[in-house]
Amino acid sequence: MIPYSRQHISQKDIDSVVEVLRSNFLTQGPLVPRFEEAVANFVGAHFAVASNSATSSLHIACLALGVSRGDIVWTVPNTFVASANCALYCGAQIDFVDIDPRTFNLSVSALEKKLHEAKQSGKLPKVLIPVHFAGQSCEMERIYNLCNPLGIRIIEDASHAIGGTYKELPVGSCQFSDITIFSFHPVKIITSGEGGMAVTNDNSLAESMRLFRCHGITKDENSFTRAPHGGWYFEQIELGYNYRMTDILAALGLSQMEKLAEFVGKRQEIAMQYTEALKGLPVVLPEQHHDSNSSYHLYVIRVPSVEGRSLRNRLYEAMHKNGVGVNVHYIPVHLHPFYQRIGFKKGQFPVCEDYYDEALTLPIFPELNSDQFKVIVENVRQVLDLN
Ligand SMILES: *Cc1c(COP(=O)(O)O)cnc(C)c1O
Repeated sequence: MIPYSRQHISQKDIDSVVEVLRSNFLTQGPLVPRFEEAVANFVGAHFAVASNSATSSLHIACLALGVSRGDIVWTVPNTFVASANCALYCGAQIDFVDIDPRTFNLSVSALEKKLHEAKQSGKLPKVLIPVHFAGQSCEMERIYNLCNPLGIRIIEDASHAIGGTYKELPVGSCQFSDITIFSFHPVKIITSGEGGMAVTNDNSLAESMRLFRCHGITKDENSFTRAPHGGWYFEQIELGYNYRMTDILAALGLSQMEKLAEFVGKRQEIAMQYTEALKGLPVVLPEQHHDSNSSYHLYVIRVPSVEGRSLRNRLYEAMHKNGVGVNVHYIPVHLHPFYQRIGFKKGQFPVCEDYYDEALTLPIFPELNSDQFKVIVENVRQVLDLN
């Protein structure tokens, strides 16, 4: 089976992990700060805070921005559930902004309209979490210009997008946001096995995220509220979590950073080949905004239904039968049973729901070879020609 995505692990990656296993520190050693520094340097942000997953990073980012009971957070429905769950972990309410039918990213006009309505009803969100779907940055400057005057803070969920750029700047520079989150799950652009990172240019946000990452505990005398009892002294000053990344994972992540540009280059090459090979077929190709240079975590096409019959489903089944692991990203978050239980209804975000009925993710990863590529494209052609 050709998977839709797959990690690439080199001998050097393996060696770096083994080296940690032979060292003194399996966790809280020197490699997490080094991995943080490497990512911060790459994306041009001042601070980076690693954690054990992007989900944890989203959670501590919300906490650092003060999200709590009574607050509202907005994200898009076309994302992995973690982008929305993080707000609920903080006791806040979540709501969604519909997407653009061509880029599959947050629709700026839908955001503008929803902000207008929310202002009227006094229900503005505290935080907006735009998601850079498939690796393509949202239109961050326009989003920032709408949110900033209203005091709305921004967390970019860039789980798909490390190595991408927006207006010539690396995703993660945080020029138009407070915090940006990356994921290092094995299907993503680079991996640490599991892992996430939050980057920011705001020192106090970084400090706060570090605190929430590690139980809310500080060993910094300047943060103590009492006189230390002795050299062993530390204080818990917030309710935090154990969201730490281990040095084993950081070693892998750090080693993978060296390949980031190459991985993204390969993905972009494959994406261009898909765009070329599928041109003219009755499918909608993923439109790229001229300000964004995607890292192509995913290559998603839309397969419109024919006479009420889902051609997407037919393609999905036929391709799986032929050993091509196409996938669908995403089931709209608000359609999951849990989200329906807390009050969301089908029909609330129609652009995203229509998109979901047609979306199909084709395999894309650095090691996808030209024979596999031909098989995938042939499969798409064959099924579509039956009509
Ligand atoms: C993968 C992903 C996450 C969660 O990442 P983990 O590292 O697995 O916790 C969050 N948001 C989006 C958009 C993702 O794709």
